Amino acid sequence: MATEEITSVDDVDLSTQDGETPFSLELNSDQKDIRDWVHGFAEGVMRPAAAEWDEREETPWPIIQEAQKIGLYGFEALAQFFADPTGLTLPIVNEELFWGDAGLGMAIMGSSLAVAGIFASGTPEQMGEWIPQCFGTPDDPKVAAFCVSEPDAGSDVSSLRTRAKYDEAKDEWVLNGQKAWATNGGIAHVHVVVASVDSELGSRGQAAFVIPPSSPGLEMGTKVKKHGLRASHTADVFLDDCRIPGSCLLGGKEKLDERLARAREGTRAKKQAAMQTFESSRPTVGAQAIGIARAAYEYSLAYAKERVQFGRPIIENQAIAFALADMKMEIDAARLLVWRASWMGRNNKPFTAAEGSMSKLKAGEVAVWSTERAIQILGGNGYTREYPVERWHRDAKIYTIFEGTSEIQRLVIARAISGVKIP
Ligand SMILES: Cc1cc2nc3c(=O)[nH]c(=O)nc-3n(C[C@H](O)[C@H](O)[C@H](O)COP(=O)(O)OP(=O)(O)OC[C@H]3O[C@@H](n4cnc5c(N)ncnc54)[C@H](O)[C@@H]3O)c2cc1C
Repeated sequence: MATEEITSVDDVDLSTQDGETPFSLELNSDQKDIRDWVHGFAEGVMRPAAAEWDEREETPWPIIQEAQKIGLYGFEALAQFFADPTGLTLPIVNEELFWGDAGLGMAIMGSSLAVAGIFASGTPEQMGEWIPQCFGTPDDPKVAAFCVSEPDAGSDVSSLRTRAKYDEAKDEWVLNGQKAWATNGGIAHVHVVVASVDSELGSRGQAAFVIPPSSPGLEMGTKVKKHGLRASHTADVFLDDCRIPGSCLLGGKEKLDERLARAREGTRAKKQAAMQTFESSRPTVGAQAIGIARAAYEYSLAYAKERVQFGRPIIENQAIAFALADMKMEIDAARLLVWRASWMGRNNKPFTAAEGSMSKLKAGEVAVWSTERAIQILGGNGYTREYPVERWHRDAKIYTIFEGTSEIQRLVIARAISGVKIP
């Protein structure tokens, strides 16, 4: 609410209101330059390679390396995207990359979840030591993994069974358990693992650890064969008496002890910070889904203008034209939610109505729906691997599942708007 009356718009300066960066849909020249640069890589490098890596179902190291050579893969790039005070650069970059290809896009962006985990919980020394190692160098690229999910703890992350015990005599942590579906799991140079230190405290008794490269006791389990996103490696990770130095506890022991003591006393204690990265990363994940949806929309629009049946292009049928109109509208609506949430997150606005969840939920569902529509518009061709829309449909489906399923996003939104602790 304004506290002073204004008589003209000249009395307000929206650009400096509350000292924060105002929300604007007009991209500045830096944002446009970055968008066009990433688009060039997506179009020139990713698109031509996408079908091959989808078939191979292998980590596309040459593509990661090319991205690293031009400065698109690495900590400096991520830090620069994140630094934009409007919060829009990160979703813009993600939309373009995933427009190029989602499997390759995840191979490039998958390490950023581990980075976000280190960034959220780590001390400045830990960030300096581990974040560059998540990426390696252009001559020797590396990837990183963020391991939370377990076979019996997917949506319910409070019930993690992986345990971390402190061996005081050796100042080491010993981890035991099984992680499931970890992006880059087992092939990562750096694994960030969330484990329970005090299981009675649920999610408040958890901590995040960096597992250094080649730590004995960490082994890759089964590599998952997936429906989509097949150029991105997903696997189980086993931790069997995995011993790591005490310094690998993110945030340090003193902070953990204080947090656990508060939780045991019943004082309101924060959840493990790395787990909260999911909340802030949701708009970025939504932007990835929008990239896939936009690819499908653009492709099917062009196809509908070309494909002739009954003596006229199929777009001259309202059934087709209206489907494309709806796709465009839904994609733009989803992008607006993503940009709003990104701006809010970057400017520390509280997500009072779970705006981050809203953006990811809408974008994921729009991606699944739009890619299905695209297949329909392409008819038989859409159902074949000769055309990319069937791959985009397979890729899109993950966006209603990971980083919180659509049902869990609805739960988060419902709780936020109602204030009711809906079970
Ligand atoms: C390709 C891929 C990559 C992944 N990458 C990572 C990664 O890097 N790191 C990581 O930690 N995890 C990762 N995951 C795991 C992912 O986050 C989980 O799959 C996801 O959280 C869902 O958990 P779940 O599969 O156990 O499903 P479940 O939790 O078993 O859910 C099954 C169904 O029940 C519904 N459901 C569950 N609880 C409720 C409820 N309370 N109300 C209503 N409906 C409910 C769900 O919405 C879903 O439809 C990845 C998964 C995949 C497939």
